[in-house]
This record gives sequence, structure tokens and C-alpha cells, in this order.
Amino acid sequence: MCNEVKQRMEELCRLLHQYNYEYHVLDNPTVSDNVYDQLLHELIELEKQYPTDRLKNSPTVRIGGQALDHFEKVTHEEAMLSLGNAFHAGDLHDFDRKVREVSGKAKVQYVVELKIDGLAASVKYENGEFVLGATRGDGTIGENITENLKTVYDIPLQLKDLLDLEVRGEIYMMKSVFAQLNQEREQNGEAGFRNPRNAAAGSIRQLDPKIAGKRRLSFFPYGMVHPQKYGIDNHAQALDFLQLQGFQTNPERRLFDSMDEIIQFIEQWTDKRDTLPYEVDGMVIKVNHFTLQETLGFTVKSPKWAIAYKFPATEVSTKLLDIEWSVGRTGVVTPTAILEPVMIAGTMVGRASLHNADLIIEKGIRIGDRVIIRKAGDIIPEVVRPLIESRTGEEKLFCMPHICPVCHTKLIKLEDEVALRCVNPACSAQIKEGLTHFVSRDAMNIEGLGERVITQLFEADLVHVVSDLYCLTEEQLLPLERMGEKSVQNLLKGIEKSKQNSLERLLFGLGIRHVGAKAAKILSMHFGTMDALMAASKEDLTAIFEIGDKMADSIVMYFANEKIQDLIEQLRTLGLNFSYTGVRPNLAEKNRFSENTFVITGTLEQFSRKEAAEKIEALGGRVASSVSKRTNIVIAGREAGSKLKKANELGIEVWDEKELIKELENAE
Ligand code: NAD
Repeated sequence: MCNEVKQRMEELCRLLHQYNYEYHVLDNPTVSDNVYDQLLHELIELEKQYPTDRLKNSPTVRIGGQALDHFEKVTHEEAMLSLGNAFHAGDLHDFDRKVREVSGKAKVQYVVELKIDGLAASVKYENGEFVLGATRGDGTIGENITENLKTVYDIPLQLKDLLDLEVRGEIYMMKSVFAQLNQEREQNGEAGFRNPRNAAAGSIRQLDPKIAGKRRLSFFPYGMVHPQKYGIDNHAQALDFLQLQGFQTNPERRLFDSMDEIIQFIEQWTDKRDTLPYEVDGMVIKVNHFTLQETLGFTVKSPKWAIAYKFPATEVSTKLLDIEWSVGRTGVVTPTAILEPVMIAGTMVGRASLHNADLIIEKGIRIGDRVIIRKAGDIIPEVVRPLIESRTGEEKLFCMPHICPVCHTKLIKLEDEVALRCVNPACSAQIKEGLTHFVSRDAMNIEGLGERVITQLFEADLVHVVSDLYCLTEEQLLPLERMGEKSVQNLLKGIEKSKQNSLERLLFGLGIRHVGAKAAKILSMHFGTMDALMAASKEDLTAIFEIGDKMADSIVMYFANEKIQDLIEQLRTLGLNFSYTGVRPNLAEKNRFSENTFVITGTLEQFSRKEAAEKIEALGGRVASSVSKRTNIVIAGREAGSKLKKANELGIEVWDEKELIKELENAE
């Protein structure tokens, strides 16, 4: 084994021990679980390749925590183990294959449960009475937290029957309790908890049970010790039994005998996990029958009859190889991180946003650093921060660019901006970006015209301003590389078709500063034609609810520019449509929708959310994406989740789909 691998194994052990301590003992992790899991996975793989070099105290063979001295220690009669991890469908199929091999059967029954993101606890009963509660600790020795657990309402102090029983389950904190707790802490000048798991862990280890009680913790049982003693022979029955004894079991569990169906079930939960009122970090798949569980047995760390599937990482760590600077259509020069490619939320990522130079300085990011990358929803991945503890001393500070990386004009920093700007209107990068924006999907949506073709047309000196696109001919295009007769015809057809677009597409495509797609639509609906908009004063513009001073100034300044006026005239002569083709709201006539802000959530039966939004906007309403105090009405379809909850919390009026249809009919 080369020295480099050995060093990496040692480094991983050191980091993982540190993270384990912060997470399990201090309840204050400094990296996300995804990052921890990724590093642990790397160590497991290296140990598989070089088994003789595994460090004696490797975190791969130890269960994370350790009991704190200020609690009485409890020795578990049966070890409290961790779970093996799966990150891909392939891992689950491997698990299933091994289980079926041992069972000798073609099909095995599994129970699939949500993996609650809290901390494990053991609760013991004697003669039906709750007598002892303990944390998992290192799996063998935990902490006595009996008094604190007595404050958790989901844990019955008395079982229905007079049994001796040990139940294992997860202590967790509801998201709403967590939000309130952190708000209170903020008001008291205390540091907030990182997430509900840490808040739950910190609360259950309070020395004063009164404080633990105030934290309103919850509990879901997920198993019991020696269930066969009670005549139970499978896990599903054990959970039903616990429910009957007075526990609140998690209702989302399901029985399966096909791994493909389990994977489908997991996919459904991957999409809707955020709608739950508590946090889950994966799903647990358990062999149902105890006889097979016994045959399968355990490793030192986890049972071989269960596996935890972890939801795809939205945060991982990788190496920052370089910082690249590029020019956008407005001249803003932005840094992009060039990364050692890494898998994040199911896609391979090699580039991530660094936003602006100030942020790189503020976060202390250096080239060569290991950095945390985050991806939330569909947003482009971003660099969150460097892992200072992984530095080797080889990392380099970045150089702030002084000139435009494309046209070499000196960059400037406007007073009220963080961005560096190239102010050369002839900068080829800006022109190309502007043209690419004009033809993009939300703007003129010209098929066959993307960044590559735009660059080709620009470099062939055929297109410099958007009006040039409408003057292109077959003769000019045919000689270009990768331009066959058919593609040229399609391209020209696409360009011709775009002339009929409704006004908002053209407005957005022109790239007026501060005017996004939504504002372009509002302006088009309000003014109806390009001429009416061009004639509008700042006052006319700011009279519209959504248009602020900054945008109004920008619009007035844009149309006052003679070069722009010439461009508009050219586009008119070339035959572009200058009118809004949708239904314009009758602004004089007030209805239930006029000037109200709506949020649509859940699934609607009669129309898509987009169609519903168009109808509302056509009647003078506004449609926003998130619920806030400024929301007037929330339309809640089937399976509406967190937005509906927030609306209820804020006391906002809620309509179901029937009500929406009724109001639309009244107003139309
Ligand atoms: P784990 O969280 O991966 O899985 C085991 C635990 O899952 C059980 O002990 C139990 O408490 C819980 N669980 C929840 N729902 C369950 C259910 N339905 N059935 C059975 N068990 C259920 O393993 P772990 O050993 O508790 O902790 C390791 C994990 O903790 C890592 O994978 C990582 O995600 C996280 N961690 C993070 C850091 C950090 O710095 N961020 C550090 C250490 C550990």
C-alpha cells in the first residue's frame, strides 16, 4: 500500500472520530450527516481493499457514542446496535440477494419503516411500570435518562398489561417544536440548535428533567427485546403489540416481499419526505420473521437482517481544483468552482457556484481546499465552506481578477454592488450571453438555437444584436459546420415562429435589468402593448403592486436609450408581435382575485398548478411560490403539506379546489 493511501486512512479515522465526538457527545456536529457518511464510506472501501492496514480503533467497527460522566451509566443486557447503510438501489438488491441466499427462499417478507432522525433510546418496564430509560451510548453502556424520558408523553408510564418488557425506539423532536425552540433561544441570545436531531439529543441529556420536559420530545418505538417471550414471531406483529400496549407506533410502515416494490416505495418517500412533521433521514428495511433474523445474525456493529437506506446526499465534500471567472450577459463577472467530480443528489457535479469574490473571502476558501458542496432542490450546487481541518498547507489563496477574462477591459465594482463588472458593451462574452438569453426557453424559446449555435453565428459574424437573428438566410447558414439543409430549415422556421410570441417573452428576452420572466408577464398584462409600456412613466409603473422603484427606473432608462429605440423599431419592421396575446385582466372590475396574493399547493384534479395560476393572474390576482404574511389565500389541493400547515399557522384563508372553481366561475 502506498504511503498516500495510508495517510488518507489515518486522516479519515481522525476526522471521523472528531465528527463522532461532536455529534454523539457534544450534540453539536460541524458537518452534515451526508458528509460524514461519504467519508465513512470512503474509509470502508479503503479498508476493504487493504484489510491488514485497518487501524485498531477504526470508526468502522465502533458504534459512535459514549456515555457522559454526569449521568449514571447503564449496561445494556442486549447490545444496542447501529444499522448497515445503503445508498443506492444496487446496495438494496445486494442485501436482498444475501438474505434470500441464507433463507433458501425465492421471496422474503420485509417490513419497511421510516428512519426517524433522532436518537436511540431503550425503555424498560417491570410489571407494566416504566422503570428505566437509557441512551444507546457506545452500544454496550449508555446513560440513565429515566427521569427525562418520563416527560415524553409518547412513552407510557404504565403498559396495558403487567409485563416485563424492554422497548427500543427513537426520541425525536417535531419540526414545529424545533422551530419554536430555536426562536426562543434566539430571543434569549442563546445559540440555536443545528437541526431537530441535535436539539432532541441535547434536550434528552439535560440534567434537569424540567428543562427536558419543556422541550416536548416525542418517541416512536421500532422494536423490542426478546419478543418471542410474548408469543410474537415477526416484526410487524411486534409493532402492533407495542401499539396495543400504549405506544404510538409510526403509521407509515408497510410489508413487502419484492425489493423492486420496496425501491418504488422508497422513491415515493424520497420525494415527499419533507411533508412529514418530523425529520427522516432514510428508510429501514427489516426481515420480518424472527426465525430468519436469528439465522442471519449480526456483525459487530449491526444486524445482518436489517439495512438503512439513506436518502440521497444534498451535501458532500470534494476538492476545489480551481476557480474560473466568467462574464454574464449583464457584465457581471462571477467565480465558478472547478471541483473533483463528485456525486450529489444523484448527479455527478464538477462545477459549483461561488456567487462572488466577497463571499470567497468571507468563507476563507482556498484553491486546493476540501469544500462542502450543497444542492437544494433544482438549484445549481453551491460551495458552502471549506473543511479547514483537512488542510495540508498546500492550499493557495485565489487571485482577484482585475480585468475582464474575455475582453480584458478593466473591471469595476459599483458602489452598491458586491459583483465585479465588465462595463464594455462590446464585450463578446456579454453579447453572446445576451443572445443566448434572448433565444432561451422562458424568453423567445427558439428551438435549435442554444449556446453552441449562438457562438457559431456570432463568430461567423452573422449575429451581433437580436434583430440580426431575424435577417438570417439559408445561404448564410448552410456553409456553417454541422448545419445540414434540414437543420437550417428548422432553425429558420423556429426563428420565424418566434415572431408571433406574446409580448412578455420578447420583453424578458431583451434582458432589461431587474425585469425577470414574472415581471415581464405582469408588465405585458398590464400595458398590453410594447408602445403603451414604452410610453409609461415611472409613476405609471410603480402604480403596479409588484413593480418597485428600482425596476421602474431601469425600465424608463432602458426605453429612453436611442439605440434601444432603434432596435425596437427594427424588430417592429421585421414583423415581431408587440402585443400580449393572453387574457388581460379587467382591472376596473374588482373580483375575489383582484390584488390578492395566492399560493397554490398540493395536487389539483381539474387543472395543473400552472393553469390555475394563469386563470388567477388573468383575473388580476398574483401567484407566489411560498406562504408568508403577505399571502392572502392558499389554494390547497390533494396531499397539500407544509405550505398548508404554514397557512393554518398564520391564519391565512384556505380554499380547496371546489371553492377555487366556484370563485373562478363567479369572477369570469
Ligand atoms: P444510523 O443513524 O445510520 O442508523 C441506526 C439508528 O437509526 C438506530 O440506532 C436508530 O436510532 C435509528 N432509527 C431510526 N428509525 C429507525 C427504525 N425505524 N428502525 C431502526 N432504527 C431506526 O446509525 P448511528 O450509528 O445511529 O449513527 C451514525 C449516523 O449518524 C451516520 O450515518 C451519520 O449519518 C450520523 N453521524 C453524523 C455525524 C456528523 O458529524 N454529522 C457524526 C457521526 C454520525
